[in-house]
Order: sequence, then structure tokens, then C-alpha cells
Amino acid sequence: MIKAVLFDMDGVLYDSMASHARAWKETMASFGVPSELEDFYLLEGRTGVSTINLLFQRTFGHEATGDELQLIYKEKSRLFEQLEYPESRPMPGAWAVLQKVRDLGLQRTIVTGSGQTSLFEKIEKHYPDVFDKALMVTAFDVQFGKPHPEPYLMGLKKLHLKPEEAIVVENAPLGVESARSAGIFTVAVNTGPLPDQILLTAGANALYPTMQALADDFETLFGM
Ligand code: MG
Repeated sequence: MIKAVLFDMDGVLYDSMASHARAWKETMASFGVPSELEDFYLLEGRTGVSTINLLFQRTFGHEATGDELQLIYKEKSRLFEQLEYPESRPMPGAWAVLQKVRDLGLQRTIVTGSGQTSLFEKIEKHYPDVFDKALMVTAFDVQFGKPHPEPYLMGLKKLHLKPEEAIVVENAPLGVESARSAGIFTVAVNTGPLPDQILLTAGANALYPTMQALADDFETLFGM
């Protein structure tokens, strides 16, 4: 019996991943760390610290210093905000999914690795009266981040639910891995450039090309 849907944010509720990838690539280049845009779709879901350290390891064979971490993350956030200006674009079809979830009387929350301070205000503006701030899991709540099961386990805990009572909607391989490790049925929506197979290998239980396709198939998928 499904009682709730846990949504990832970037690449699921917002069409923001291209800006994230570009902001990361340009920022890392300015610190002498080469990367490809695809790296950031593969690393999506990790915390900023974990992303930076992985790329530092790959390039220099050691992790970044505390100062470097702070500088790089600050610059990446600045560039991201600039690329998204004046505001992030809601993902096409996301509103249709959210309306179905709400109309079916299911609980819902957001589980994101993002740590933007204005996050809830943004969500409330684009998706009014759908989410409850107190039930959200963000970068400020977690220690490990995706692909560790921690963020999704925390989401379940906030909703007082068991894994089999929820479903997750994710776009990133590491996000799928995190949700599956938490024991939750996971729907992948492949809104980015990676091949479908990466999401299926990560453990996705179902896969759709767009949020609209998920909305159109929602009742069928969950037998409602
Ligand atoms: Mg995502």
C-alpha cells in the first residue's frame, strides 16, 4: 500500500541540471581541475564536498583543503545562480505528477542534496501548497548524502513510513542507488543525457523518458 512519494529535486522538479553541470565544469576548470559535463550527471546527488574531493583525487591524487572546498562551492553556487537567473525552470510534466499525487491523497516530500538557502521559497512559488518544509530533507540534514541510503531513510523517518509504503522519483544514477539501498521502489525519469541503462543498472524499478510520461502512466504503474 503506497502512502507517499519522495521526490528528488534537480532534474525531477526543476530543469536545472544543465546549469549545475556547466557551473561545476567552469568552476573546476578555474581551479585547474579538468572535467566533462557528463561527470556531473554521473556524480549528481553527491554533496558538494564529495563532488569536489572526488575530482581533486582524480586530478591531483589528494582531497581539497577546507579553504578550497569553501571557495569552490561558493563560486559554483554563484555561477549556478547566474545561469538560472532570473529563476529556475520547473520541469515540464512535474506539476502534472504532483497534482496526481495530491489528488490520490498521497503524502509527498523532497529529498535533495541541494543546500540552497532559498530552496523552500522557490518550491512554494512554483508548486504552491504541495510540500511541507518540515518534512523535506536537504543538504543541511544529512551527513553522508547520496548514494548512501541516509537521505531517503531520513525522508521515510520524517513521514513515519516503512520503505514499502513509499516510492521515489529520481533522475540520477546515484540517487536511484540511494533510494534502492533504502529499500524503496524507485521510478527513474531520464531527463538528462545519460543512457537509460545506467539508471537501470543503478537499480531503477521503472523508467520513463519524461515527467509527463510518468504522469500519464501513474495510475497504471501503481494500480490505483
Ligand atoms: Mg536529481
